Amino acid sequence: MTASPTDGQQGYAELVAGLRGTVSAGTTLDLAWRRAQLGALRRLVTENHDALTAAVSADVGKPDLEVHLTELSLVVQEIDTLLDGLEAWTAPRPVALPATYLPGTAQVQLQPKGVVLVIGPWNYPVQLLLAPVAGALAAGNTVVVKPSEVTPTVAALLAELLPRYLGADVAAVVTGGVPETTALLRERFDHVFFTGSGRVGRIVMKAAAEHLTPVTLELGGRSPAFVDGTVDIEAVARRIAWGKFTNAGQTCVAPDHVLVTREVREELLAALGRAITSFFGPDPRRSRDFGRIVNAEHHARLVSLLGSSGGRVVLGGQHDVEDRFYLAPTAVVDVPADADLLSEEIFGPVLPVVTVADAREAIEVVGAGERPLALYVFSEDEQTRAAFGARTVSGGLAYGSPLLHLTVPGLPFGGVGASGIGRYLGQASVEEFSHHRSVLSKPLRPDTLRLVYPPYPGWKRPL
Ligand code: NAD
Repeated sequence: MTASPTDGQQGYAELVAGLRGTVSAGTTLDLAWRRAQLGALRRLVTENHDALTAAVSADVGKPDLEVHLTELSLVVQEIDTLLDGLEAWTAPRPVALPATYLPGTAQVQLQPKGVVLVIGPWNYPVQLLLAPVAGALAAGNTVVVKPSEVTPTVAALLAELLPRYLGADVAAVVTGGVPETTALLRERFDHVFFTGSGRVGRIVMKAAAEHLTPVTLELGGRSPAFVDGTVDIEAVARRIAWGKFTNAGQTCVAPDHVLVTREVREELLAALGRAITSFFGPDPRRSRDFGRIVNAEHHARLVSLLGSSGGRVVLGGQHDVEDRFYLAPTAVVDVPADADLLSEEIFGPVLPVVTVADAREAIEVVGAGERPLALYVFSEDEQTRAAFGARTVSGGLAYGSPLLHLTVPGLPFGGVGASGIGRYLGQASVEEFSHHRSVLSKPLRPDTLRLVYPPYPGWKRPL
């Protein structure tokens, strides 16, 4: 089912009511039903792999293999993970009763929440919509999907495909931008799952608060990478360049900036240059493996951030709006601390490299900012690794590799503080999209509760 802006508020209300009816009827309690929906979603991805790839490529300008690796294969992996764990993760969880409560039994029962609204961003426009949809279905919900208007080809394709694979009583796509999403958010959902900026996340949370609807907010932020002199700098430079320049830096968990100890800064910059050349050749503009900035607005924002940084560009820096919003893999040093480049989320292929005295200073810098979505530590020193583990807070923490933690089945994904609320993927999705009901069963006989009924003759304080 799809609803268009012309249907208006009434159309959205009917849409949500219809989808809630499926859950109220008990249809979604059946695990076979959930398996069937997950199977259909999997087929949507595998049978339309080329069309989805072409749509993402047209809208975001990313290389085909990147679409496969970072979007479509991850959705399939997530569905397979959910199918594998479905029975174990949805089963009632017995809770042992203290002897004084016996006879009786207690358990936690996971119940579908109802209708879940999934609002997606443009940077991974398939994966960041369909992975949460899979989790919501696995937990027995029905879904309304709102793709980003910044990726209209993907949005139109999903609006066409989803109803072919999932029934109108299971899922609906609503396309559009701010007016449509604003109207949609007036409806009462049972959970809102939002991926996007902190600015819009606040708008979504306020709208959800009107109905006391719980939210998951997958937001962005400035994910730092720390590098010291104990590591193989060539290897680290390749890892950082890969994490930063995948999807031309438009990845929520891309290393935003590097904090490097003074003695290895020059070595790291030289190695980053070699890594960029080895990935994309001497002129990344000609490489089929380097993506583009999504649109003119974001291109202008990045060019302005770079131009006003007050720093020194040591790698890249070239940009060309005519060449489908090209911006070269770029590294900048000596950026003044108050520059926008060091306070805003960059979300593009520009890497500020900031010098710090040591890990202690880096930990202070991380602690002084908003809590990041990810933190990357490149150090072989056990004490340094342990200090980052103990004295920083971030959505995720990875030693030795950016991005990868997001793709590990079994590791929940989510932010903390300004980088988000809640977590998902695999079992975490089933938990997030379920209501956890406490259930107690106490037989009427023998009536052990008579011990607590009034009157209370001879009562003595026991403690
Ligand atoms: P965005 O916040 O601009 O848009 C996200 C969604 O919100 C879109 O579907 C859009 O239509 C909708 N929207 C926009 N304005 C709205 C409004 N006023 N009211 C209601 N809905 C509105 O984000 P974006 O530019 O698409 O994505 C980039 C941001 O998302 C970055 O900050 C990035 O870090 C973050 N992000 C986070 C994750 C994560 O998993 N944590 C993943 C990808 C992107």
